[in-house]
Amino acid sequence: MLTKVVEGKRAVTRRRWIADEWDETSAWLRGEQAAHLIRVLRAQAGMECDMVAGDRVWRAAIAGVTGDTVRFNLLAEVESDPALPVTVLLSVFKFDRMEWVIEKATELGAERIVPMIARRSEKHLAQTAQSRVERWRRIVREAAKQSRRSDIPVVDDVVALKQAVSIKPETGLCLLLAEQERERTLYAAMQHFEKGSIHIAVGPEGGWTSEEESLFAAEEWQPVSLGPRILRAETAGIAAVAVLAAVLG
Ligand code: SAM
Repeated sequence: MLTKVVEGKRAVTRRRWIADEWDETSAWLRGEQAAHLIRVLRAQAGMECDMVAGDRVWRAAIAGVTGDTVRFNLLAEVESDPALPVTVLLSVFKFDRMEWVIEKATELGAERIVPMIARRSEKHLAQTAQSRVERWRRIVREAAKQSRRSDIPVVDDVVALKQAVSIKPETGLCLLLAEQERERTLYAAMQHFEKGSIHIAVGPEGGWTSEEESLFAAEEWQPVSLGPRILRAETAGIAAVAVLAAVLG
């Protein structure tokens, strides 16, 4: 992926890679990324790029290619934007639509995705969700690269809603996207955010059961609205992270 960075007054375009291994002075690419660089982009010593190593971004240059491994020298650290302090608790629903939320939430800056099984998550999807987690981790990695992030969001293993309601930030807000909520909008709730993290829960296509709403209420999650219209679960998830990104700036 090409990166446009400003060095002095000059805008420089460089490809961005995510290191498979790194230390203080070098980084290595292996597997798919290395194969693409070697075979498609004809990797040569001296070629420059941006390298994400851990949560830092470096200007780097190819030092050598050995078999299917490319070694880089890390030249200089490049400024990068931190992730948003946003965790999305995402109910399991149709996988292609869930993956849309996972990709877009990554582009928008979310730092963590917690897939959870709600009562109205379809049974066969609930049973197979854990087998999709590695795919979801690949999706966030590609979306992080594409959106020029300097970090990769965490995708948890799938949890049951009963456990998920206790996944709360030490400080911050726990917000429940509730289509029946009429008092408090997400935007209004964010006016009270001072520090810490925001955990936001997105319901399944069939919505929350009243028992689930009680479980969330017992853990002091605040129900919030995205407006009077009933949004599809994927629309609600993406819209919510976009609102948080806009408010957190
Ligand atoms: N089955 C529900 C119904 O027909 O009333 C609709 C559920 S909606 C398709 C899926 C999820 O998206 C909801 O559980 C909620 O988390 C979120 N959502 C949809 N519209 C929303 C809104 N206007 N405000 C807040 N959350 C919303």
